[in-house]
Amino acid sequence: MQSLYSTLLADATFHELLLVFDQDIAISARREQCLLCRGVLHSGRYRRKPRGRPSGLGEEHDWRFSFCCARDGCRTRRTPPSFRFLGRKVYLAAMVVLIAIMREGATAARMRQLSALVGVSRRTVDRWRMWWRDTFTASPFWQIGRATFMPPVDQDRLPASLIERFTGGGAERLIALLRFIAPITGGDRHAR
Ligand SMILES: [Zn+2]
Repeated sequence: MQSLYSTLLADATFHELLLVFDQDIAISARREQCLLCRGVLHSGRYRRKPRGRPSGLGEEHDWRFSFCCARDGCRTRRTPPSFRFLGRKVYLAAMVVLIAIMREGATAARMRQLSALVGVSRRTVDRWRMWWRDTFTASPFWQIGRATFMPPVDQDRLPASLIERFTGGGAERLIALLRFIAPITGGDRHAR
């Protein structure tokens, strides 16, 4: 499974697919208009340079879809959920999931290999695991969402224990997990 995951991160087709999902979410968010005043939304997309992607992807991958209410005095920003960006994290959401999984039970030697492979320091990977264990589990989203799973998901083994609950091959499971956590990826109030 581990080599499958690193192959996935390097696969341009996989990243194109995530972009298509994000485009679909953005189109329906825009149709709903401003949540506060029903004003029309204008594109307020902003540039991100997420790390962890394969090279050779087009510049359309650099943009986070976001909207601003066009009405004077409101101008509320709305950033829809994403399959690619996890709040303000500088790495791709898929990477924050997969590397934390690969980290599980890894020996020091294995961990050095992994860091070299994906260009992430061990400290960063440990921070991601802490984010899953502490921040994610404390979020209102998870407090409600975890009830979906029976028997309960082992919170000490997140996100590995979560991805195991989805069916299909590696890519399908990862996409299912990204879809599940999508509600906490949008806006600045959420995942950091
Ligand atoms: Zn508005």
